[in-house]
Amino acid sequence: MKADLHLHSTASDGTDSPTDLMHIVACAGLRGAALMDHDTLSGIDDARQASDDLAIAFIPGTELSVDHESADGSRIKIHMLAYGIEPGDGPLQNKLEWLREGRDERNPKIIKKLQQLGYNISMDDVLEQAGGTAIGRPHIADALVARGRFTDRNEVFDGLLNDGGAAYVERRRLTATQAIELSSASGGVTVIAHPVTMGIHGDQFIEVLDELRLTGLVGIEAHHPLHDVALREQLSGIAGDMGLIATGGSDYHGTGKRGYNVGTGRGDLRVPEFAFERIQQAIENVNRKS
Ligand code: AMP
Ligand code: ZN
Ligand code: FE
Ligand code: FE
Repeated sequence: MKADLHLHSTASDGTDSPTDLMHIVACAGLRGAALMDHDTLSGIDDARQASDDLAIAFIPGTELSVDHESADGSRIKIHMLAYGIEPGDGPLQNKLEWLREGRDERNPKIIKKLQQLGYNISMDDVLEQAGGTAIGRPHIADALVARGRFTDRNEVFDGLLNDGGAAYVERRRLTATQAIELSSASGGVTVIAHPVTMGIHGDQFIEVLDELRLTGLVGIEAHHPLHDVALREQLSGIAGDMGLIATGGSDYHGTGKRGYNVGTGRGDLRVPEFAFERIQQAIENVNRKS
């Protein structure tokens, strides 16, 4: 099935509403889609309604920013995609609220740093840019762009909002193990998003995958616009060898990340034909066990 397993809407930091997003999915000729907004499921109901109307198969989910301490004690940051998570109460669902509280705690600290750096920006300016309750650095970037100080989000992240940047502030995170276990307990399955951003390679990467696989990880997002074609093939091979699913998605954010198009990424994205069905199958397996 032609599908895109990594999409963002205005429920977090995308720029298309969940409903509009599903129309874009249909126009792109896809038959399957997964909505993966950061730390929130608030777009799921609208997206599912639209996907039903358009006869698109739909997987609900969320993307989590997590920490992992590797065997040598170094700290690795991972983006974890949790598929099959339904809105409502549940182990992971309830933690999402705690994560959003962490965002609300951090955002004013970033604003303060920006003000100290001479940027004239308030929390109200940021709220004006956000469509949902998972508010973060992209909306802060949008507020600075709206003030005419920068041309796009990317320019603001560069040196200012990026990890370690002048206005960077940490926020609450789950560990990778917690994210995997909470997802399973909520009837979902986890996949490592854009593994290139973990910043580890070779044996260390395999060791981390092996640890997380034993906890319940089911896949890695081999096909992502940040990966060159050689890396996509390499990661697909590793997934195959380790019994993990090689998935793929565009990480579409509307105008928030230019050049990341639904279904095609930068034009050369090929989401594996069976990835959507394999994730659906993995979700069914988790729910059969529980
Ligand atoms: P936050 O979740 O508030 O810490 O913000 C992180 C999110 O910002 C990431 O998950 C991306 O969606 C987005 N992001 C990170 N770097 C960039 C960039 N250079 N340009 C646009 N969006 C970015
Ligand atoms: Zn995002
Ligand atoms: Fe991500
Ligand atoms: Fe994403």
